[in-house]
Amino acid sequence: MIARILDGTKIRDQIFAELKDEVRLLTAAGVRPGLAAVLVGENPASQMYVKSKIAACEEIGLSSALLTPPATASTLEMLAVIEDLNRANDVDGILVQLPLPPQVDTKRILEAVDPAKDVDGFHPVNLGRLISGRPGLVACTPAGCMEILRRNDIQIEGANAVVLGRSDIVGKPMALLLMHANATVTICHSKTRDLPDVVRRADIIVAAMGKAGFVQADWIKLASASASGSAGSAGATVIDVGTNRVTDPKEAERLFQNFPDRLEKFRAKGSALVGDVHPNAINTAGALTPVPGGVGPMTITMLMSNTVKAARLRRASPKFSATQSTATAR
Ligand code: NAP
Repeated sequence: MIARILDGTKIRDQIFAELKDEVRLLTAAGVRPGLAAVLVGENPASQMYVKSKIAACEEIGLSSALLTPPATASTLEMLAVIEDLNRANDVDGILVQLPLPPQVDTKRILEAVDPAKDVDGFHPVNLGRLISGRPGLVACTPAGCMEILRRNDIQIEGANAVVLGRSDIVGKPMALLLMHANATVTICHSKTRDLPDVVRRADIIVAAMGKAGFVQADWIKLASASASGSAGSAGATVIDVGTNRVTDPKEAERLFQNFPDRLEKFRAKGSALVGDVHPNAINTAGALTPVPGGVGPMTITMLMSNTVKAARLRRASPKFSATQSTATAR
């Protein structure tokens, strides 16, 4: 059986369409949500990420501003930039592109962002709200994983969910979101014993470790028919957050031995993007997010959604509630 593919690009398009409508109505009512991106220095990867975030703002009708302090900026100079943005009423979301240069105290900068404008959901106040189940801004990647599950009607309530990874930006918020959606959650990390056995019990697996093809296909619970004739259980749902660039030909052969097309592409390009789950999992999982094209597109999507949500929470009155989309209502 081939797994059902959980297509993140399709969900991004759906959410973008919803957000476009929402932004149009909000703008007509005098609230045009806006995102300010702070990009320090000239790191090409960061420049590319910020460019695609600004392009997404344009696509859905948000206003955007780009601030580019020099690579030599100090912590105090950066704090002054953040303070200005905190005070600007037309800025609903503040995005500080990481990494910051080594002389800047990153934690201090992220904690200086007004929690009401913290569209990355990294601020301890927003993490605290998430823990206590209060409305707030949630980290984009785990929020995107939840949208993938919900919009594909994957049963979360009562499911055994295993989250591989416990980082502040993915694993921990992911586990909290699943718990609030009534899954029974196990969080695994580098010191977890008997990992394959833990994963085998999961109905939902979220892999966020940063280890290419680490989760093996035979760790994933297969679909089973019921002996009593009632409906059996589906194979596990796999949400693969990992984004690993593989350049070693030996590793590519290990990963793509059953995928000649991907191996050929790797040889032509010299690299390939691979998740934390072995590509063979397509033959064992019930449903699975591809890499690329699964979780990846959802991160920017939820950044856009968070910016609109922040504008509502900060500036909009209850009279706007009829214009709210599903993504920003969660
Ligand atoms: P991270 O901060 O490096 O955390 C990795 C986590 O994996 C840690 O908790 C670590 O455990 C755990 N881990 C490492 N080796 C393990 C092992 N052998 N068994 C079990 N757990 C293990 O990474 P992150 O920032 O959460 O990102 C994880 C992955 O997601 C990366 O590939 C990243 O590129 C990707 N990512 C993708 C998106 C996207 O938009 N698609 C967004 C964010 C991140 P310890 O805590 O014990 O060290």
